[in-house]
Amino acid sequence: MLAGLARDGGLYLPESWPHFSKAEIAALKDKPYAEVAFRVMRPFIGDAFDEPTFRRLIGEAYASFETPEVAPLKALGDSGLHLLELFHGPTLAFKDVALQLLGRMLDHTLAERGQHATIVGATSGDTGSAAIEAVRDRRTIDIFMLHPRGRVSEVQRRQMTTVLAPNVHNIAVQGTFDDCQDLAKACFNDLAFRDRHALTAVNSINFARVMAQIVYYFWAAVKLGAPDRPVAFTVPTGNFGNVYAGYAARQMGLPISHFVVAANANDILPRFFEQGAMTMAEVIPTYSPSMDIQISSNFERLLFDLYGRDGRALADAMTAFRATGTLKVGANALGGVRELFDAGRLDDAGTLAAIADCRKRFGETIDPHTAVGYAVAQQHRRDPAIPMVVLATAHPAKFPDAVEKATGVRPALPPRLSDLFERAERVEGLPNDATALKALIDERMSAIRGSARAAGRAPAKARP
Ligand SMILES: *Cc1c(COP(=O)(O)O)cnc(C)c1O
Repeated sequence: MLAGLARDGGLYLPESWPHFSKAEIAALKDKPYAEVAFRVMRPFIGDAFDEPTFRRLIGEAYASFETPEVAPLKALGDSGLHLLELFHGPTLAFKDVALQLLGRMLDHTLAERGQHATIVGATSGDTGSAAIEAVRDRRTIDIFMLHPRGRVSEVQRRQMTTVLAPNVHNIAVQGTFDDCQDLAKACFNDLAFRDRHALTAVNSINFARVMAQIVYYFWAAVKLGAPDRPVAFTVPTGNFGNVYAGYAARQMGLPISHFVVAANANDILPRFFEQGAMTMAEVIPTYSPSMDIQISSNFERLLFDLYGRDGRALADAMTAFRATGTLKVGANALGGVRELFDAGRLDDAGTLAAIADCRKRFGETIDPHTAVGYAVAQQHRRDPAIPMVVLATAHPAKFPDAVEKATGVRPALPPRLSDLFERAERVEGLPNDATALKALIDERMSAIRGSARAAGRAPAKARP
């Protein structure tokens, strides 16, 4: 949880998956979300948190959601399609489900150890605000969030820059999202700098995020008849973190018949599932920007299984992929993975049509990411008797322009964000220059440590 990415560049995974019996799965039915969350995540926690503490952190995390259900499941008529609404958290996208919990787990652990951590991250939109909301006002954490200046939507920018908490530092970089990512990486690659500030990443490769996302697969499946009846899931996919959590749920014993990986025009994953080869291409901007990704960082976790859990073979394949832009898997591994995963793509015109269609047929307004899932799901119903759950990953008001274009109606922000456009913003500009970024962080952090000392608080140690 604290390290995020391993120092050798690899990703963390549990040595083995905990297993839930049929009776244990059945016992989750009709339990509140927080109780399901506690039971599903308990086996991963070991002795890192005692039971009352972990229950309290879960309770606080999900109390920040707008609906007491946390993740409502809605049937779309009698089509057999269901929407699992994951967007009722503070920033209106599914990333809150994991980050609201991770922020509290980090804060609790750091406070207990008398330590401080510094998060440096890059965002093209949703991750930034969800991470900021998760750690705002925490004394144990400072967060520096880089976004490409003028290239995130106004709602997305304001969700970050209107958080005026003293530990939140928004930086608008003169450059692209890739430049922002390179700047963040430069901070992590400078090991002296990394250690000096105890840098931590909360991006989707952090296993604690995957863990928190496993919960809602159990939550939805038991509502639809698991463990006695299988369920299928369609997941609007970018970094593969969300759908990988579903794969983990299946490894843990949940009867999931298959997954549908839904992509926009950035279709590296559908091409992989069709051809058994992953080949990089240019990123194309779409109406579903959180899926405008070419290299899905969590896909490496699935590849680990496809490489027979041979870490060395996978590390070699990933190195070759970065050098040549291509990665292939054998026919056997591909056959196995195709039994479990379908994949499909939808372009921008199709996305607008899907938003309009869902509203007309079922009276539900969906966001462009969800719309990609909604349309692709219908092309991959393997068995009409098996319920198909489409993960609704963002609130339509987060992407009002596309929704208005599709339906003629501009979706309103929920009450808690209705004054977003009147709130004051705080953000600093920065050239696309790693030296300038590191100087800014050094300067800011030494001022923060100085004022902690002046206030008589022992400045927290950077985590070794
Ligand atoms: C992040 C995000 C996705 C992609 O999720 P991954 O876990 O990266 O595959 C899809 N939709 C929305 C709205 C998102 O914010």
